Amino acid sequence: MTNTGGDDCIFCRLLAGRVPATFLHRDARCSVFMDIQPVNPGHILVIPNAHAPSLADVAAGDVGHMMRLARHFAAALRASGLQCEGVNLFLADGAAAMQEVFHTHLHVFPRYRGDGFGLRFGPHYAVQPRAELERAAGMIRQAAPPFEAESRPEETT
Ligand SMILES: [Zn+2]
Repeated sequence: MTNTGGDDCIFCRLLAGRVPATFLHRDARCSVFMDIQPVNPGHILVIPNAHAPSLADVAAGDVGHMMRLARHFAAALRASGLQCEGVNLFLADGAAAMQEVFHTHLHVFPRYRGDGFGLRFGPHYAVQPRAELERAAGMIRQAAPPFEAESRPEETT
């Protein structure tokens, strides 16, 4: 394993076998295991093996692999017999976005009507004038490097 978060990172400890975990899948790049505090039964986490505090730190090839694993296990959730009418994928990047463990992880959890989970809309939730969308898009375009530069699938840690 190539994780480097050491003792400070619960997921690195888990990958190293120093805390218990219930794994669904492990390979050279990523691991999949059960969330110890599930939103609903069947809640799983997909993580890169390499310690990466934020999404920007995850190797490009690992990001794609995480999504492929999420899709694979989302289908398994639907077929599992667990209560699952839909599936949420959720990645919290940063404390303000509700990230609590700073080893990037993609949540995959089953949803069903009346399960009580929800995200609520804040005060900025409203249809915006086109000029406002263009203003925000302009700022993002200015900040974004060319996509090809960071998207080569062969790129790894
Ligand atoms: Zn870690």
